[in-house]
Amino acid sequence: MTDFTMDKGDDGVAVITWDVPGKSMNVLSMEGAQQLGGLIDAALSDDAVRGIVITSGKKDFAAGMDLNVIAGMKDAGGARAVFDGVMSLHNLLRKIERAGMDPKTLKGGKPIAAALPGTALGIGLELPLATHRIFAADNAKAKIGLPEIMVGIFPGAGGTTRLVRKMGAMAAAPILLEGKLNDPKKARAAGLIDEVVDDPVGSARDWVLQASDADLVKPWDQKGYKMPGGTPYHPAGFMTFLGANAMVLGRTMGVYPAAKALLSAVYEGSLVPFDTALRIEARWFTHVLMNPSSANMIRSLFINKEALEKGANRPDVPDQTVRKVGILGAGMMGAGIAYVSATAGIEVVLIDAAQDAADRGKAHSESLLDKGIQRKKVTEARKAEVLSRILATTDYAALDGCDLIVEAVFEDIDVKADVTRKAEAVIPADAIFATNTSTLPISELARASQRPDQFIGIHFFSPVDKMALVEIIKGGETGDRAVAKALDFVRQIRKTPIVVNDERFFYANRCIIPYINEGVRMVGEGVNPTLVENAAKMMGMPLGPLQLIDETSIDLGVKIAKATRAAMGNDYPDGNVDDVLFWMADQGRMGRKSKAGFYAYDDAGKRTGLWSGLDDRFPRADDQPELTEVQHRLMMVQALEAVRALEAGVLEDIREGDVGAILGWGFAPWTGGPFGWLDMLGAPRAVEIAEALSDRHGDRFAPPALLREMAERGESFYGRFGPDQKKAA
Ligand code: NAD
Repeated sequence: MTDFTMDKGDDGVAVITWDVPGKSMNVLSMEGAQQLGGLIDAALSDDAVRGIVITSGKKDFAAGMDLNVIAGMKDAGGARAVFDGVMSLHNLLRKIERAGMDPKTLKGGKPIAAALPGTALGIGLELPLATHRIFAADNAKAKIGLPEIMVGIFPGAGGTTRLVRKMGAMAAAPILLEGKLNDPKKARAAGLIDEVVDDPVGSARDWVLQASDADLVKPWDQKGYKMPGGTPYHPAGFMTFLGANAMVLGRTMGVYPAAKALLSAVYEGSLVPFDTALRIEARWFTHVLMNPSSANMIRSLFINKEALEKGANRPDVPDQTVRKVGILGAGMMGAGIAYVSATAGIEVVLIDAAQDAADRGKAHSESLLDKGIQRKKVTEARKAEVLSRILATTDYAALDGCDLIVEAVFEDIDVKADVTRKAEAVIPADAIFATNTSTLPISELARASQRPDQFIGIHFFSPVDKMALVEIIKGGETGDRAVAKALDFVRQIRKTPIVVNDERFFYANRCIIPYINEGVRMVGEGVNPTLVENAAKMMGMPLGPLQLIDETSIDLGVKIAKATRAAMGNDYPDGNVDDVLFWMADQGRMGRKSKAGFYAYDDAGKRTGLWSGLDDRFPRADDQPELTEVQHRLMMVQALEAVRALEAGVLEDIREGDVGAILGWGFAPWTGGPFGWLDMLGAPRAVEIAEALSDRHGDRFAPPALLREMAERGESFYGRFGPDQKKAA
């Protein structure tokens, strides 16, 4: 079985078709690359072949490099193996680009064109970029681009070097640095591909047959080539490179090795001839791959995220695809859940206590669809279709036939019990009932249900349409079919699930609340709030703790604090936090929604800086802590809580702990998640940091027994709890 096959036509055009057996999308393996190289050699040396078209046997061209292969290269032979592997790809693509031409006269090569039926990502675009002309089908669903940066690497098969030389550093920046994807028409407008046509293989074949020697020579292989927009020592180029460095550092705070390495590869590469630039690109790519951050990011954001989406932890139960969902409560969350369900093709019954509230919930979908229409992402017909799937009503009888209920009424145990009973009186006996509660125990809410084994938590994050994570919570009696139903629902709405057990705040909130509290606590101690916020961002947290609580609202923080204090009694550890939080609430500073919080806001609700009034009430201490101390506090307080969640059995799979942390609350993505971060530090060093913090700041930093044990035994989280170990257990 081969990934590439070649078919020589009577007209002298050899069509090489990429069609990896048994996969819905082509991905490149090293064996595949070798096969392609063999076919290119054969075609170039065959006098009967006049030109070559490279296309795909699938509806898309390719999803990129098999990231498992990249991860494997490093494990097999370290930096040398990675560098050699990457150079072999460069050599293959350079062979395609030079196409057998005489290097001096630049004549005598065979034209090679790429014909893309659909999506072309990563090396699936780097390969076409090495050919002489790229034809894409007029397929609005196709995505074309280089998304490597999103998983902690950068385009390392010539994409970086070729694109910058083709478009200039400025135009290439959003594609390389942000991983921006375009549909074929936009990709053509951006200069990424050459033509958008109805029949890419036919058009490519016609082009190949009439191409001249000059059509085959890339600008950078011609004498007198100048990089568009200028190289770093050209006046215009100077400004671009200076600006790019500042922008990238400002956005990434220097914690993403891939962004820095990409810039270095572009900068250094632009000063030397093309082939040397490719070697430089390969060196920087190897450098990034050898950094644990890239391995951790690939593991969490690609391999494990996909494994969870494909049901890695789904019980072995027949398909539970949702056809009709009943949503109770059409407030902020219910309205969002209705939207994501209806867009996924599921019939929705959206219930609220009053008809106008239900209608407002449905109007949320309308406004999101209207925004999509403005951005030309949604058609009027699509809007009508989605809206026709949502029935907004107060009538519980409309829930008849729903196979899933998602309850999102007020956070009140009695209100929730009441709607549970009302819904269960109508829905089929085998329907699953899910609650979106953030704080109430699932097992307790399940008491209102006739069928506690069919009762489960499906916890969304706000705003529902944007947040990728959904936390599924098993109550004490929740059965396998309910878990499977929840997972199938999350798959239908194209989000990423984690499955956890029922303890206070489940997983995500359990870790994020201590992060916010640590920031607030430091304000009370007189730590400069700017130091707190910057320390968090410089560790790669998307929002500092004070900005985060302004976003989620200070009154919600107060409510949670009061409820937690009531539940914990004398054990409640966060009195110092409450001194600050309750005082803020007393001042009416509820966060962004009241345009007043830890930050000051202008009339339009834009942050204008940290609020100066904090200094009067909580004067700054003369001795400010070191940056690292603040960073350790903010990171450890989350990571140790994740370890406790694992120890307590709330988490059953550390992959879920890591993926959930990044997608759920933005835990510094460069680490690959809290367990990834602790593995980077190593358990002994993590214990050392935690002990030191515990001595200075209190028991909340005391290393959990599990972490101590791992330090003593020299274990890592992925070594002890990784998926391979799980399978063996
Ligand atoms: P919300 O106040 O915006 O909406 C609640 C809705 O439920 C209101 O429209 C209300 O009219 C309706 N409702 C109340 N009692 C009802 C009844 N008896 N019958 C029918 N409808 C009734 O609240 P929200 O922010 O959407 O939160 C809803 C649930 O989701 C809560 O359990 C909350 O803890 C949880 N949650 C909230 C967030 C968040 O960020 N806001 C995140 C995750 C989970």
